[in-house]
Formats: sequence, structure tokens, C-alpha cells
Amino acid sequence: MNVRDGNLALAARASKVMAGGHLSPSRKLGASIAFTRASGCYLFDADGNRYTDFHCGFGANVLGHCHPAIAARVHAVSHDIDLIGAGITQLEVETCEVIARNIPCAELVSLCSSGSEATFHALRIARAFTGRKKVIKFQGGYHGWHDAVAMNVQSESGAIGRYDPLCDGIMEETARHTIVLPYNDAGAVEAYLKANPGEVAAIIVEPIAHNIGSVIATDAFLSDLRTITREQEVVLIFDEVITGFRHALGGYQSICGVTPDLATFGKAAGSGYPIGIVAGRRDIMECVGRTGKGSVFMGGTFNGTPSSLAAVLATIEELSKQGTYERLSALGMHMRKGLDAIALRHGLEAQSAGFGSVWLLYFFSGAYSRYDDLLRNDDALDLAFRQKMIEHRLIGQPLPLKRLYLSLAHTPEVLDESLGVIDSILERLIA
Ligand code: PLP
Repeated sequence: MNVRDGNLALAARASKVMAGGHLSPSRKLGASIAFTRASGCYLFDADGNRYTDFHCGFGANVLGHCHPAIAARVHAVSHDIDLIGAGITQLEVETCEVIARNIPCAELVSLCSSGSEATFHALRIARAFTGRKKVIKFQGGYHGWHDAVAMNVQSESGAIGRYDPLCDGIMEETARHTIVLPYNDAGAVEAYLKANPGEVAAIIVEPIAHNIGSVIATDAFLSDLRTITREQEVVLIFDEVITGFRHALGGYQSICGVTPDLATFGKAAGSGYPIGIVAGRRDIMECVGRTGKGSVFMGGTFNGTPSSLAAVLATIEELSKQGTYERLSALGMHMRKGLDAIALRHGLEAQSAGFGSVWLLYFFSGAYSRYDDLLRNDDALDLAFRQKMIEHRLIGQPLPLKRLYLSLAHTPEVLDESLGVIDSILERLIA
């Protein structure tokens, strides 16, 4: 058998039966690789090749793949209980309790199965609570695949860039109620709210804009959003689907000290098992279950699936161990320092970016605080670099500006080895 026979055979079968050839356009690697196994920071393909994983299941795998504590808990629970769908379960109560204990805004908690579901529900809850329709999001922010948030950079003053709209089939009637404003610009939000009083139900924001790499919100931006939304009775939603559990057990809100009205979580909360969480202020969350001011139906057959909740509880136990977040940050720092040294050595107009265990290389120099600053990125070089990474068995998304991740299973030795590969890739690319 040829060294690529297994991968090629599965890719050929996929192209015949899987719509689009992949389960999402964001999963395309630009090479025929079919994974069959994952362990720690490594992935293995159908031909037995080993890859170092910097994709980490879109960020969900914060502990490393197939972590023994998660596998054991899921296995144990799967012998005792599967989907009930009636009443409540002990696992649901325990999961909501532990989330409420850890997340500052979480007076009441509800569970669903993905980040997109969580943001969908959070926006619906905000609309029900306020009786208003419009939503503000920020350029470059991604909050899931549903129509209310499926645009990236469009603004009332006209689109400034790429990737807009996300796809065909989006209901224009829904999308037009979403206003897209520049990140880190509370003045733009204030001006919009003043010009459109009583119209905006919610502002949804990634407290670090990780969907365009890693643009950190200024302290003033988040605290000004908090002040303005209180004044205008707009629901402030932190979308912590990436930042939650990855950067701190209490989410980024526990780091920045600004408590939103609602927050959404997913990804790292479940170590790769499907989970979505909506948590927030009691009076707003009381809309769920039709007990409060609004009346929101938040259903879903798989809400609170026991195997996922077993994974969430075991993940939180692991993440609660002494020194976890210090270790994740130290790994991230190691990677970013290494990247900056490489960029300097090659005289590249590039800089590392990231926070905690999130990292990437931006291919431009100078400061940045919003999406249009990133239009300076050398996308062609970024793309070529990422494609070469994959060829050299370092897995990440082959798209410009996309964040990469580390997990607790990565070690400084693994990072040094990967940095060596990155060094030679960049040297050859710019030669
Ligand atoms: N919110 C943010 C900030 C995300 O990055 C994502 C996914 O990448 C989502 C929501 C959607 O989550 P999911 O893919 O689990 O539906």
C-alpha cells in the first residue's frame, strides 16, 4: 500500500457521499487527510501518519484529545443514564450549579448543544425581555451559523471587506435587524443607540475578538459598553464560546471585571462533547420557561445530554486543578515568543498574537484594535504559511487570520519542535 492510500480512499468515498465533501467549509484542509485517531496533542491519519494538533477541535480540546478523566467519566455515565428528555436529571442540576458557582453573571443557567444554539437563544431571550428587535454585533465577530449573526463586516455605511454575507440562503429580513459596528469603538455604539432609541435589544460581543485571530478588547470598550447598555436598557451579551473555560473557569468576564447581563459558552466547556450554555441575570433568564417578563421557548431534544454533561463536569474538575491556567498561559507565551524570534530573525513584517493558550502569527507590523486594521495582513503569505504547516503535519485552519490553539497536552518540547518546522517553512517561503 502507498503511504497515502488510506487517506485518498477515504477522501474519494467522502466526495461521493458527504455533501460538500466535509461537514463544514471551515474543515477543508486543502489536502486529503482522513483522521482516524486522536491522543493528547497528536492526530493520526488513515495511513498511520502523526500530526501535531494546533486546531484542537476548533478550540474545544483544552485538555488534549481523549483525556483519560473525560473518557472515564463519559464511559461511566453512559452505563447509568442516557437521554431521558422528561423532568430533570441529577447531572443537569449539578452542571448548572457548578456553572453558577464559577461564572460571575450566572444567576440562572440553561443548557443546549452548541455555541450557535446558545447565541441563538441568548438573542431571542434578549428580544423577549426588551420587546425590541435589533441586535448590534462587531466587525469580524462570529457568533454561529444562524441568520441573525451570519455576517461579518457589513455595516450600515457599506461593506468594508471580505466574507460577507456568510452564505446564500440567509433571510435578509432577519439579517437587516443586525447592525455591524467596528470593534473597540464604544463611540460608534453610543451614536447608533442615540440615533435609534428603544430599538436595540442586545449587543453581542466576543470579549476577545478571536474570530479574527486575537484582538483584545480595551478595558474602556468593555466598561463603556456596560455603562451604555445599562443607560439604554440594552442586554449586554458576552459571547464566551471561545474565551469561556479556555482562559478562565469564570470566563473572560472574571478576568476583565465587567459582568455582562447574559453570556454564552460552548467549545472548551465540554472537551469535545457537544455543549452550549446560556447563563445570566435572573430577571432576564426568567424569560426561559415562561416564568418572567418575556416568554421564551428554549427547547431541544438533546439539551442536557448526559454524556456531554459528564464531560462538562469532568472538564471543570480538571480545569479547577491548581496551576492549570498558568500552564496554559506559559505554553501560549512560549509559542508567541518563539514566533516573534523567528519573525525577527527573518526580517519578516509579522508579529505573534494571542491570549493564554490561543496563538497565531499576523503578517503585518504595528498596532491593531479593530477589523479594518487587519486588512493590512499579507493574506497570501498567511495562507501559504498555513498550507505549508499542514504539509509538514502541523494542523490548523488554512485560512488567514484564524486563531490556533494549545492544550494542556502540549509541552514546551513539542512547541520547540514545531517552532523549528515553522522557522524553516518561513525561511523557504520568503526566500
Ligand atoms: N460564538 C463564537 C465566539 C464562536 O467562535 C463560535 C464558533 O466558532 C460560535 C459562537 C458557534 O459555536 P458552534 O460552532 O459550537 O455552534
